[in-house]
Amino acid sequence: MNIILLGPPGAGKGTQASKLVADRGMVQLSTGDMLRAAVKAGTPTGQQAKAVMESGGLVSDEIVSALIGEKLDALDTATGVIFDGYPRTAAQATALDELLVSRGRTLDYVIELEVDEAALIERVTGRYTCANCGEGYHDRFKQPKVAGVCDVCGSTEFKRRPDDNAETVHTRMAEYRAKTAPILPIYEARGLVRPIDGMADIDHVSAAIDGILDG
Ligand code: AMP
Repeated sequence: MNIILLGPPGAGKGTQASKLVADRGMVQLSTGDMLRAAVKAGTPTGQQAKAVMESGGLVSDEIVSALIGEKLDALDTATGVIFDGYPRTAAQATALDELLVSRGRTLDYVIELEVDEAALIERVTGRYTCANCGEGYHDRFKQPKVAGVCDVCGSTEFKRRPDDNAETVHTRMAEYRAKTAPILPIYEARGLVRPIDGMADIDHVSAAIDGILDG
């Protein structure tokens, strides 16, 4: 099973991908995570991507498609993949088709997380993660049970993404509208799109995804 999770920043792609990894043994390929790792490691790719990511713009199609290709090469064809945050442009969608075909994979579904943009700003600007285990939290919607202590691993260190500020989020939304939303019709024409309500709570969204994958 190979699926794309598609939706604007804050739609819940990463959260749902993590659940699919835990529940189904699929592998999450998040270009955002790969790029953040490259920035942290100071690789040439990271050095090129850093400023673009901080501005909320899109990193070049060549860079992100190469990252995805490398990760796919390291995986067994039988392992299911969740594409999270990729593709984000028509050129990336074309590149992904080629990457999949050449590795004997087919795309099963494009799960579109439909969300209310106004609510997303609050979702994104309030989110943070445990610096140790990566568990996600939110200033308003999901605080740790004991203030300042991660529910999962007990760490007291948390972090926020530098691009999760109001100004950058507006740019990221605009990029989504201008460059990413237009790829939906490509997949609709192929009968692959399954829209779901991304404003529902996490467990409902997850149940809706399960319904699609098991249906
Ligand atoms: P994300 O974690 O998916 O929100 O991505 C964070 C940032 O990384 C984006 O705002 C872009 O600057 C960059 N990025 C992630 N994935 C892609 C992609 N598929 N194409 C271009 N830029 C990307």
